[in-house]
Amino acid sequence: MPLYEYQCQQCTSGFTELRRFSEMDSQIDCPECGSRETKRGISSFAVGGASAGVPSASAPASSQFN
Ligand SMILES: [Zn+2]
Repeated sequence: MPLYEYQCQQCTSGFTELRRFSEMDSQIDCPECGSRETKRGISSFAVGGASAGVPSASAPASSQFN
């Protein structure tokens, strides 16, 4: 199940939820204030792809120490 990121329009707090594709655009209550004025943001796919390059980039640098 994909991870979706939401932001509350009332208290502006962000939160993530594991949801099905069919549910990603349905309304979800804010865990902080309980408001239903939430908006879906970027998914974890873009975030995971960007951070995946960091650990692999440090691997060749450590091998040069040996
Ligand atoms: Zn809220």
